[in-house]
Amino acid sequence: MPSDSLFQVALPVPLPRHFDYLPPVGHVVTPSDVGKRVRVPFGSRELTGLVVATGIPSADAPELRHAVAVLDTTALLQGELLDSLRWLARYTHTPLGEVLATALPVTLRQGDPLPDTHAWAWRLTAQGMDEAPRLRTGSRPQRLASLLLASPRDEDALALLMQDWRTAARALAKRELAERVAVASSTLAPDPQPGPALNPQQEAAVATILEARGFAPILLDGVTGSGKTEVYLHAIADCLRRGRQALVLVPEIGLTPQTLARFRQRLGVPVLALHSGLNDGERARGWAAFARGEARVAVGTRSAVFTPLPEAGLIIVDEEHDGSYKQQDGMRYHARDFALVRGKALDVPVILGSATPSLESLHNAMGGRYRHLRLNHRAGEAQPPSVRVQDLRKRPLEAGLSRDTLAAIGGALVAGGQVLVFKNRRGYAPVLMCHDCGWSAQCRRCGTPARSSPMTVHGAGRRLQCHHCGARQGVPPACPDCGGLALQPQGIGTERIEEMLLEKFSDVPVLRIDRSTTQKRDALAGHLQQLGEGPGILVGTQILAKGHDLPHLTLVVVVGVDEGLFSSDFRAGEKLAQQLIQVSGRAGRAHKPGEVWLQTHHPEHPLLHTLINGGYHAFAEAELAQRQAAGFPPFAHLALLRAEAGHMEVATGFLQAAKALLAPAESRGEARAEARATPEIQGPLPAPMSRRAGMHRMQLLLSSSSRRDLHALLDAALPLIYALPDARKVRWSLDVDPLDLY
Ligand code: ADP
Ligand code: ZN
Ligand code: ZN
Repeated sequence: MPSDSLFQVALPVPLPRHFDYLPPVGHVVTPSDVGKRVRVPFGSRELTGLVVATGIPSADAPELRHAVAVLDTTALLQGELLDSLRWLARYTHTPLGEVLATALPVTLRQGDPLPDTHAWAWRLTAQGMDEAPRLRTGSRPQRLASLLLASPRDEDALALLMQDWRTAARALAKRELAERVAVASSTLAPDPQPGPALNPQQEAAVATILEARGFAPILLDGVTGSGKTEVYLHAIADCLRRGRQALVLVPEIGLTPQTLARFRQRLGVPVLALHSGLNDGERARGWAAFARGEARVAVGTRSAVFTPLPEAGLIIVDEEHDGSYKQQDGMRYHARDFALVRGKALDVPVILGSATPSLESLHNAMGGRYRHLRLNHRAGEAQPPSVRVQDLRKRPLEAGLSRDTLAAIGGALVAGGQVLVFKNRRGYAPVLMCHDCGWSAQCRRCGTPARSSPMTVHGAGRRLQCHHCGARQGVPPACPDCGGLALQPQGIGTERIEEMLLEKFSDVPVLRIDRSTTQKRDALAGHLQQLGEGPGILVGTQILAKGHDLPHLTLVVVVGVDEGLFSSDFRAGEKLAQQLIQVSGRAGRAHKPGEVWLQTHHPEHPLLHTLINGGYHAFAEAELAQRQAAGFPPFAHLALLRAEAGHMEVATGFLQAAKALLAPAESRGEARAEARATPEIQGPLPAPMSRRAGMHRMQLLLSSSSRRDLHALLDAALPLIYALPDARKVRWSLDVDPLDLY
C-alpha cells in the first residue's frame, strides 16, 4: 500500500472543501503532520492553513502544488480541541478553515510561532549558595541573597518582597552569585481569601457539583444575588485542588475588574482574563499558557470558549441566557452550546448559571437532561423590589414617559436615591400602535389569540408587512378598534429620553449609557463613578441590566415594554421577561428597598401578568407551552439563510434558487403532509429589519422537528448553494439556531 504523500489543508476561504498539497520538498508526510500549520500557495497569494488529514493523490487528480513550509514541529491543534472544532464546522455548516480563523488567536492564524509564556525568575548560583552567608549583613545584596536562598523567586514575586531588588540582583549577577532563568509562568497570586459561609441551598449545590464525575450538564438556577458566584468559586477551588484547569465564560459586559479581582482574591491563583480588549500578543500568550498547561483558570467572554484545555476539570457559563454568547456574524456559533459540546468531549461537568435561564436550558432541565439546582432567595440582606405596572393609554407622554412616572422619578431623587430609566433593547422593527387603546396591527393570516404576529412598519411609515407570511397592507388612517387618530410606530431612542430628563431634572447628573457611549472597556465604570452616591439618573439599554453593583439605585423605570410584547421575533417574550427580571434585580441591591415601574399600553397582557404574579418560572412554563403549540424552539430546530444585496431582486433571486435546491420535494406539492419531519421553508421574505446600510435584506427560514433532518438537508444542498452563480452577487450567510430572525 502506498503511504500518504499529500496534505489536505483547511484554508481560511469561504469554500466548503479542503485543498490538497504536496509537502515541501524534502518533507516526508506522516500522520503526525495533522494539526500542524502550513504555508501554501493559493492563486497568486500565500495562505496559512492547517493540515487536517493526509492522503494519496487520486489518479485523475490535477497536478498538485507544493506547500511552501510546515510551520510547526508538533501539532498546534490536536485531540479534543481539533475534534470539537471539526464538530463545530459541521454543525454551523462553515468551512473548517473559516472556523479555525475564528477560533485561533490572530497571530497563530497568521503563522507566528506559539509565543513564549515564560516568566523570569532569579536563583543563586552554586557559588552564590556558598558565599551568601558571608555577604555584609543588612546590605541589599545580602537581603536578596537570603530571599533566594530559601527558593528561586520570580520577578513579580520579588517586586512584592523587596523594593529595589533589581539593583541588588544586578550586583549579585555581576559577581556570578545569582542568575536570571526562565520559568514556566508567573505563579504569583495573593493567598486565597475565605468567603462567606454557604447557606444550605448553596451547600447542596456545591455538593452536587463536586460529586459529579465526568460530563454532567448542570443548570444553576438562582435568583439575582442568590450567591451563584460563590458556588462557582467553591467548584473552581475543588477543580484546582484536583490539579485541573477551569474555564469560566461570562457575558461581554459581565467581565468587570471587580469580577476578576474577586476571582483572584478568592482562588489565590493567577486568573487569566480573555476579552475583546486584549491585543493580539496577549491573546496568543493566554492561549499558549493554557495549551502548555501552565495557566489554570481563565475568565473570558464568548471566544474564550476556544481556549485549549489539556487538563480540563470544569467549565462554567455564567448568565447562560445572555445573547452575547451567540456570534452574529462570520461563523455564527453559540458559546454556551459549544461549551457543552466541549464539556462532553472533555468529560467534565459544565455549569450553566442564570437567574433567568434560557427556555432551551430550562426545557432540558425539566426533561431531566440537565441537573437542576435552585437557589431561591438572595444571599445577602437585600429584599426583592416591588413591581408596579403603569397603564399608559391616553396619558400624555413626554419622550415616552408619563407624568406619573416623571413624578415618581422626582420623588426618588428628592429622597436621595438614584434612578435607572431602562429602555428595552434597540433594534426591534417598529410596530404600529394606538396610544388611545393599545391596539396594534396584527397579521390576519398568522396571528392567533395565543401568539400575536405583528405587522411591522416599512416603506418610510406607509406600509405594514408581516414577516412570517409576507402579507402587506397600507397603514390605516385611524385605529380600527377605537377610531382614534393616535397611531404611532413604537420606539423612542435613549437620546430623546436623556434630553427630556436633562431638561426636567437639571440639578442632578443625567447619564446616558449604551453601546455608543461605552465603547471602551472601562468607560462604564467611569460613568458610574461620575454618578457617585448622590441622587442622579442613568438612562440606558440592556448594557445596564447586569454586572454592575448600583447600591444606591431605588427606582427602575422600564420604557418600551410594548415593543418586546409585540415584536415579530419569537424570542422577544423570553428576552423581555429576562430583561425585566434582570433589571429589577438591579434595584434595591443593598439596604434601600427598590421599586420597579413598568410602563405599558397593555397592563393586562398575559406575559406581564404571569411574570409579575408567578415569577420567571411561571412565565417560562407558559411560554414553553406556546412555543410547543407554534412549533418554535426548543420544540423545533431552525436555520436562517440570509442574503443582502443592493437590489432586492438580486437577494430574492438568490434565495429562490437556494430554496429550489433545498426543497425539490416541496415544490412538487403534497410530499409535505406525508413526511412530517421534512423541514418547512418559509420565504424568501424581507427580514424584519428589511434595509440596513443601504442593503436590502431577505431571508429564508427553515424549520424542522428533527435536527438530524434539517442538517441532512443543509449538508446536501449547501455545496450547490455555494456554486450558484448568484452566490457571488449577494452577501449571504447561514445561521443555524438563530437567536433572532433579524
Ligand atoms: P449571584 O452570582 O447569584 O448574583 P453572588 O455570588 O454575587 O450572587 O452573591 C451576591 C452577594 O451576596 C455578594 O455580595 C456575595 O458576597 C453575597 N453572598 C453570597 N453568598 C453568601 C452567603 N452564603 N452569605 C452571605 N453573603 C453571601
Ligand atoms: Zn385605538
Ligand atoms: Zn402573516
